[in-house]
Amino acid sequence: MKFNYFLDYLFPRKCFGCGTEDSYLCSSCSSEIKLLKRQCCPRCRRYEEDGKPCSKRCAEEFIFDQLLVCLEYAKSNLISKMVVQFKYKFSEDLVGILGKIMKHQLACFSHKFRNSSGNIIFIPVPLSERRLKFRGFNQSLLLAKYLKDSFNDTEIYDCMNRENGSEQQAGRARNQRLKNLENKIFVKENWNERLRNKNVILIDDIATTGTTLNECARALKTAGVNKVCGLVLARGK
Ligand SMILES: [Zn+2]
Ligand SMILES: [Zn+2]
Repeated sequence: MKFNYFLDYLFPRKCFGCGTEDSYLCSSCSSEIKLLKRQCCPRCRRYEEDGKPCSKRCAEEFIFDQLLVCLEYAKSNLISKMVVQFKYKFSEDLVGILGKIMKHQLACFSHKFRNSSGNIIFIPVPLSERRLKFRGFNQSLLLAKYLKDSFNDTEIYDCMNRENGSEQQAGRARNQRLKNLENKIFVKENWNERLRNKNVILIDDIATTGTTLNECARALKTAGVNKVCGLVLARGK
């Protein structure tokens, strides 16, 4: 028995949508996944071609320059199930499925960003050391690695860190979240020199208010980064 088959025997693969065995995503469920064909303003969610803030007022709140979202999201849908599963249990198949989705959207929407001067690098949104130890991997770094393989001349800088306990954001009001995060996400020592004038694609799985991305962008720009484009699988309400 080959090792993979042995694993399948121990942990049968089931479709995340309907539970059918054999694959993590059967063809009928995968046809239900709808990639977003338009991006919108990260603040007011009005249609906006490149996912940039639509007005001066909307731009005031965000330090990142644009936000690319891949999929429609609802708490109950297939994608949210897959992302939760992905967060807590490493699965190469899921990295492949979710990474492919990101790769496609990045290719569709990031032309202008990629054509702007300066090198593009991928940076995963960090987990705190405690969370990383507990989980064993950073899901955003896995997605970044998948993406890197399909883009030439790109590097991943795993150059950020966050304080222990700064992840528990759900359920807090936006102002409270901002307060809790201030200065708790930072660039690791000795990285500033390498970050200067880079254009960054900042990778996360799900964004809600955008607070975490924003705090990452704040730390990166303080370190000398030129532009920051957030890339997330989906955006929660
Ligand atoms: Zn299915
Ligand atoms: Zn707006």
